[in-house]
Amino acid sequence: QGAGRRFFVGGNFKSNGTVEQIKNIIETLNKATLKENVEVVIAPPALYLLLARELIRPDIKVAAQNIFDKGPGAYTGEIAAQQLKDAGIDWVILGHSERRSIFGESDQFVASKTKAALDAGLSVILCCGESLEEREKGITTQVVTRQLGAVADLVQDWTNIVVAYEPVWAIGTGKVATTEQAQETHAEIRKWLEAAVSPEAAVKTRILYGGSVTEKNSAELAKQPDVDGFLVGGASLKPAFIDIINSAP
Ligand code: PGA
Repeated sequence: QGAGRRFFVGGNFKSNGTVEQIKNIIETLNKATLKENVEVVIAPPALYLLLARELIRPDIKVAAQNIFDKGPGAYTGEIAAQQLKDAGIDWVILGHSERRSIFGESDQFVASKTKAALDAGLSVILCCGESLEEREKGITTQVVTRQLGAVADLVQDWTNIVVAYEPVWAIGTGKVATTEQAQETHAEIRKWLEAAVSPEAAVKTRILYGGSVTEKNSAELAKQPDVDGFLVGGASLKPAFIDIINSAP
């Protein structure tokens, strides 16, 4: 994409899959011919991270879907960034709208987790996005820059952050943002990065689109100058994920 940003496609399996299904998805990916200029990361449920890391081809990396910002230690049920790093997991998705809305994660908590992940040497897919109500009120830019701003308050170096713009109303709904809506918000995020982080971060940070991405709409979205890839939910569980990866310009 623009300015030499390498196209990036993440597959967010969410809380889906069995051992058998995860193995099948990985086998399909391992056999596929993928465009070389695309960075691909898959995020299975935590239980299957090690299995995925062991089976997946070396050019595809594995991401967790969450961490806790403290630990290792007495935090029952949680996984620390250092433990992911130790297990050879390179990435983590943070601030997904399902974590924000279902589990009540605040902008500050997401920011603190982002800092913990980066400090441990992980790379972060940092999600942001507005609700339908917020879009209709015309405050999309304010919402996403507030979410990202909490991270900028704690983190100066965004080299290992990929931003995923995921309008909440598009996630899992089959209602994809128009190419204009995606491009417009991505450009706003890039403008914000320039002012709030650095001109370098604005040029280099990949901004992914997420929300009902399929093999049918990915090529059009991928043509937008500020769309540097995708975070794919539902379609990442299907062979169509390969077409989405290969829809990179
Ligand atoms: P979806 O999910 O592709 O199923 O809409 C995207 C996401 O939640 O990351």
